Amino acid sequence: ALPTTNADKIYSDVLASFQIPRDKMRLIATHMYSEFVRGLSADGAPIRMIPSYAYAMPTSHETGVYLALDLGGTNFRVCAVTLKGKGQFDVVADKFTIPDSAKVGPGAALFDFIAGAVEQFVHTHDLSAVAASSATGELTMGFTFSFPVKQESVARGALMYWAKGFDCPDVVGQDVVDLLQVALARRAVKVRVVALVNDTVGTLVAHAYKAPATVMGCILGTGTNAAYIEQLAQVTKYRGTPTPTGTMLINTEWGAFDSEGKVLPLTQFDRELDAMSNNGKQQVFEKLISGMYLGEITRRALVHLVEAGALFGGKLSTPLQTVYAFETAYMSTIEADTSPALTAVGQVLADHLAVASTTLTDRQLVKSLVQQIGTRAARLSAVGIFALLEKMGVPESKPVVVAVDGSVWLKYPGFQDRLRAALRELMGPEKAALVSVETAHDGSGTGAALIAALVDKQH
Ligand code: ADP
Repeated sequence: ALPTTNADKIYSDVLASFQIPRDKMRLIATHMYSEFVRGLSADGAPIRMIPSYAYAMPTSHETGVYLALDLGGTNFRVCAVTLKGKGQFDVVADKFTIPDSAKVGPGAALFDFIAGAVEQFVHTHDLSAVAASSATGELTMGFTFSFPVKQESVARGALMYWAKGFDCPDVVGQDVVDLLQVALARRAVKVRVVALVNDTVGTLVAHAYKAPATVMGCILGTGTNAAYIEQLAQVTKYRGTPTPTGTMLINTEWGAFDSEGKVLPLTQFDRELDAMSNNGKQQVFEKLISGMYLGEITRRALVHLVEAGALFGGKLSTPLQTVYAFETAYMSTIEADTSPALTAVGQVLADHLAVASTTLTDRQLVKSLVQQIGTRAARLSAVGIFALLEKMGVPESKPVVVAVDGSVWLKYPGFQDRLRAALRELMGPEKAALVSVETAHDGSGTGAALIAALVDKQH
């Protein structure tokens, strides 16, 4: 091991490398703002700023029963949302596991499986009567599809490429709503799909039903992304028909911010992670913030510190050297530990990293490192929210609401407070007092159902 003083310096340098002072946050926000503008003006910009073709916001008075389908990972959900007016709603949801065999191969098999689940759901929850009593004899459905699509209208979008273990090559370039509708027809399921929705847009619209001052939906989960309300005149690349409201909900895809490496202060650990990822130089902002990556950044920093003799008596273990072996959820456990002996921290290190014995100093150093990495994620999330609020020119005098969902936001201790504190640093206390950052509940399902309701009303 190196002499203590040298190890101390290495440790403090590592900690410092994760700090983002206020001025740096502002600089990043300024660049992000200009990247939003760039994305609104042309296709192919790093931040894609995708028009959702949804524009109407709920009034809180919408009523009726609408279905939603939420496809984005291993599970997919079918929901029936009963809008009761006054911002109140009930959700009944069933989860289905998509068999691996349906995730790859011909798209018809995948969409047939999904249609089968919808058929079963309609049967289980006795929704045929609801369908029969509607004007069209059908149930109306919104489809949350968390894969990149080139949206062509509120109910049309072609899949750009698969991710997350899905690979049905014949679906790429096809309209996923068409494929779903055809599969439903094959089973004579009386459901009409009227909206194709990104989960961020769903989160925005769902929260606006309860809180009409909502202007932004944000996801801090496996990845990160946000959607907001934009003036159509600002979407200079838009070639579609004008909307009655003169507004458009934009899915920013902000996770791609600064893939050109201009302003984000990357540490050596961020660079290593990016280099070994299967999407190098892409989603760089997302890699500093989201659940998929925070644990791995921490693991890399830990390895560096052990090698420098600053931790664990300089001894490495196999899990410590295993890519993605340190989960972001462990960071939550570590941060939640306020016991004097940091027992839970020791437990995580023993159970998950095979570091059997640690000193109190080891555990304190690990906790401070984790805090630093978690805090950086919260501060950068605040930068994104701030830049997007600036783009909207809000808040002026009226309060606004930002709706947030995702496990990092929900489960990471202190994340919410740190994000709000960083917003106060960026905006000043008076302006920040007009911004309420709130948890969105059940956004992706409810939002899709609401957008289906709004689309339905327009016809
Ligand atoms: P998704 O974003 O895919 O819809 P989630 O919002 O549940 O799903 O996010 C899942 C991500 O959250 C995973 O990357 C995981 O690492 C992370 N995660 C899960 N549990 C926790 C936790 N307790 N604290 C922090 N992050 C967590």
